[in-house]
Amino acid sequence: MTSDLSAFAKKNGVKYFMISFTDLFGAQRAKLVPAQAIGEMQADGAGFAGFATWLDLTPAHPDLFAMPDADSVIQLPWKPEVAWVPADLAMEGAPVAQAPRIVLKSLVEAAAEKGLRVKTGVEAEFFLLEADGKAISDVFDTAEKPCYDQQAVMRRYDVVAEICDHMLALGWSPYQNDHEDANGQFEMNWAFDDALATADKHSFFKFMVRSIAEKHGLRATFMPKPFAGLTGNGCHCHVSVWDAEGKTNAFADEGQPFGLSRQGKAFLGGIMKHGPALAAITNPTVNSFKRINAPRTVSGATWAPNSITWTGNNRTHMVRVPGPGRFELRLPDGATNPYLLQAVIIAAGLDGLETSADPGPHSDIDMYKDGHALTDAPKLPLNLLDALRAFEADEGLTSALGAEFSAAYARLKHDEWNSYCRHFTQWERETTLDI
Ligand code: ADP
Ligand code: MG
Ligand code: MG
Ligand code: MG
Ligand code: MG
Repeated sequence: MTSDLSAFAKKNGVKYFMISFTDLFGAQRAKLVPAQAIGEMQADGAGFAGFATWLDLTPAHPDLFAMPDADSVIQLPWKPEVAWVPADLAMEGAPVAQAPRIVLKSLVEAAAEKGLRVKTGVEAEFFLLEADGKAISDVFDTAEKPCYDQQAVMRRYDVVAEICDHMLALGWSPYQNDHEDANGQFEMNWAFDDALATADKHSFFKFMVRSIAEKHGLRATFMPKPFAGLTGNGCHCHVSVWDAEGKTNAFADEGQPFGLSRQGKAFLGGIMKHGPALAAITNPTVNSFKRINAPRTVSGATWAPNSITWTGNNRTHMVRVPGPGRFELRLPDGATNPYLLQAVIIAAGLDGLETSADPGPHSDIDMYKDGHALTDAPKLPLNLLDALRAFEADEGLTSALGAEFSAAYARLKHDEWNSYCRHFTQWERETTLDI
């Protein structure tokens, strides 16, 4: 625990702090504050003009103050004279209701009030591209089934091992790194933690991966589907719920099918019930919908879901129960906001617990081959607009996330959708010119 950032700087040789917050679109914003000035900043916060970020504020709003959460400070392993500290936004002394980290904290609090602690682990897949972002950086990485490609992962050893060494130094307990199912794609896994800690680590991981890639003259992207025809960037989230001490896993029950307790099934029931609305947060961009509902990729499978279904250890459904005591939500993609991802899972899950929601029967079919036969399975939204409409129609979920947040989020995302619709594409010319 680090309660005094000034003392932390002296002890660890920190020259600058990045006081950082994440806006509604997942962008990380920061001010670099010299250690000499951090005492005052820790008390009063760092000032920002809210309109200059994606928070649905106007130029006339009073300043935002980012209040550093000192306990969550992380010294940059690749530049130890700088320390990153996630911050919570305040305006005129009150928390900013639509700020993603605040939305998550209030849901963590709602779970705590029920004596519950949600623990999660994320799998934030990414591609390593040329610096201009146009092509996969490794020209030899062309296999049809590149997953776990031994030779290709070694060609990027310098980047991958540097990031993994940093996670080891930070005490995150990383345990494996691999080449993923698309050419140029990688995944690095570290141990699950409390939802807020996972969200901070997820944010920092994205920052770290981009930074180390840049150091090596590359560009890392978490974009959901950077290349048509190749598997996209998922961000699966594994979920379990524990008692207040974090000692007993309330999702574990060896006596139940797949080892998932009744409580686990009710939480999962909430996820299933809110599935279409959830997608507005887990799949938040126009591009997201090119990953889910996608046609078969070069490797043979997209590994992304197309319907709201659950199963045991089978990777073709939206939710998989890979082993006792947890489930894996395979819906989220690399564009999901690390804080909102955790918040929406807790919001849907707590509603499931409150209403003893039934996730319905599990399905064990190969969804990619036989999914068309499962005619009564609800479909995922087909595009961002569908997802936003489902989100706005889901009163239970939007109120659990907070009315102010939900309205702000929907407004900004509708603007994004409208901007996309105003964009003229080559496809339109090709299909419409001679009509
Ligand atoms: P996959 O088989 O889906 O590729 P990975 O090993 O890549 O799985 O990632 C699994 C993630 O799930 C890791 O972050 C891991 O720590 C996390 N995890 C394992 N057990 C639990 C649990 N009980 N609750 C939450 N997360 C868990
Ligand atoms: Mg200025
Ligand atoms: Mg994985
Ligand atoms: Mg993966
Ligand atoms: Mg997974």
